[in-house]
Amino acid sequence: MEPCAGSVRCLPLRTPTLPPATHTNTYLLGEGELAVVDAASPYLEEQAALDRCLDALAARGERVVELLLTHHHIDHVSGTAHLAKRLGVPVAAHPLTAQLVRGRMAVSRELDEGSVLRYGKAEFHALFTPGHAPGHLVFFEPRSGALVAGDMVASVGTIIIDPPEGNMRRYLESLERLRALDGLRCILPAHGPPVEQPQQLLAFYLAHRLEREARVVAALVQGAATLEKLVPLAYPEVALSVYPLAARSLLAHLIKLRDEGRAVENNGFWQSA
Ligand SMILES: [Zn+2]
Repeated sequence: MEPCAGSVRCLPLRTPTLPPATHTNTYLLGEGELAVVDAASPYLEEQAALDRCLDALAARGERVVELLLTHHHIDHVSGTAHLAKRLGVPVAAHPLTAQLVRGRMAVSRELDEGSVLRYGKAEFHALFTPGHAPGHLVFFEPRSGALVAGDMVASVGTIIIDPPEGNMRRYLESLERLRALDGLRCILPAHGPPVEQPQQLLAFYLAHRLEREARVVAALVQGAATLEKLVPLAYPEVALSVYPLAARSLLAHLIKLRDEGRAVENNGFWQSA
């Protein structure tokens, strides 16, 4: 396990995630007492690798006390039930995530905006950052400025906002919120390596989404059209094979515009308000 930033260590494990990403970063928070964030992999050999790593730490006196979830997606939670059972430790998550994983695992501690988490001498703050998923949390260590960011951003691959659980307006608010975070020095995403220039990446993410929104607005001006007709207008650069994904993202933009009173939908046809 690699030391990452502050009291955070990282073990990337192979998961069924969205290409080009192939792995999800499982993070360890703390010193002496530890929390595992996103024990993510459903694959037995990957779970065994995490087990071995935690056994080696246990032999040195470092003990896992809790498992945390950033959100409910299968490429983030699928090794959690196994690990909770093996170690006999509780799972903590946002109440909305707890609802969405019901039947797959029991969440025994609910976390929300402002929850303070102490593992040994390390202290982390939970921040509620909905948008990609309704119960999305990130974990910030004020002392080091390290942010375990889940699927807020990625340094490999992209973040999909897929309605109805994905909400573009909330996602953009959450990005703005991270941009305003005092003392942020390093973003540790769930997919890809650490981001040492977090402000640059957050600004890029925001600009990229707003640029796409402007294209969607321009497409709507051309007259009422279905989602399928709007995809090539709003996403002229994407390959045909990516259209189904682009359509989900486009719908997220359209719903945001509708909620803001800038677009209307009638019988599947969208147009400017
Ligand atoms: Zn996700």
